[in-house]
Order: sequence, then C-alpha cells, then structure tokens
Amino acid sequence: MTFSWTPHRFAGGALALDVANSVILRFDPARSVDRFAEPAQLNAFAKAAGEFSAERALFGTPSAVPKPNQASFVAMREAIDRYFRAFVKNEETSLFLASLLEAAAVMLRIGARGSLETETAHSALRLLSDTERKRIRICGNCGWLFIDRSKNRSRIWCDMTVCGNRVKAARHYHGRKDRLP
Ligand SMILES: [Zn+2]
Repeated sequence: MTFSWTPHRFAGGALALDVANSVILRFDPARSVDRFAEPAQLNAFAKAAGEFSAERALFGTPSAVPKPNQASFVAMREAIDRYFRAFVKNEETSLFLASLLEAAAVMLRIGARGSLETETAHSALRLLSDTERKRIRICGNCGWLFIDRSKNRSRIWCDMTVCGNRVKAARHYHGRKDRLP
C-alpha cells in the first residue's frame, strides 16, 4: 500500500504532536504502525510538515533528520507522547517531563538550526506553556494527540472529517445491526 503524508496526518495542531502521531493506533499493539520506521517516510515527513503543519509559519520547511540523529529523534518523539498523554490523563508526569526535557536538550545540542529535530524540540517546549498544554486532547477515535482550538473547548476528534465521520458511520452501522433479529 502506498503511503503519503496527507493534511489529516498533521491534525495535531503543533509540530511536536504531529511527530508524536506518526505512530498509528498506539493503544493497539496488534495494529499499531510506526510511520517513521520506514526511512523514506521519515525523510518525507519534514517536507510535508512544511506544507501541512499548523505551525509551518514558524519554521518554514524543516530539513530532514540526518541519519546519526534519527534514533535520538525517535526517542524524543516517544518522550513527547508519554509526557503529554499522561498530562491529558491527569497522571503523574514529573519523570516524563524530565525525560522530555532531556530528549529535547539532546536535539537542540546536536541538531542543525531549522532541522526537523530542533523545530520539533522547540514545538514541544512551546506546548509546555499552560495555555497550550491545557488544550491538548486525545482523539476519541484514533488516540492521536491534538490541540483543541475551538471556542468552547469541545472538540473530541483530531479531525472531524476523518475520525468524527468514522465514529458516526460505525454508530449507524451498529444501530442497524442491533435492530436485526
Ligand atoms: Zn483521530
């Protein structure tokens, strides 16, 4: 199956969350897919971020993560996901925050200016401000992290046109099935 970085895959609203969301269905290890496991997809992500990320005005098109930095970049991605997911769930986050700050520090130390790894680190640090952090949600369908920028803070889907509709369709389907004898 061919894969491309579509606008939907940048529904996080912040580069750091889009990076975290490169793992599909994290909550389901049997079906989970790491889009960065494929080097070509990791490289293509930087260019797509320049086109689709909500924060693209801040960084333009970041340069791809050079091979020697890729393992640390993926480690930072995991630290981003762990910390913000735990924060949304109101869990204990001190150690996760420490790991995130350490991972971001590594990237800022070794990453080139304007590269995907340094821009992602900056994005994660911006999200730590209380106004941003309190708007982060976990999508009720796919489990992605996203920023709820709606006026009444009522978004439950990362992307209404994808996840919202899928859930509606599933409800419709189950509703019909329930009525069968
Ligand atoms: Zn979703």
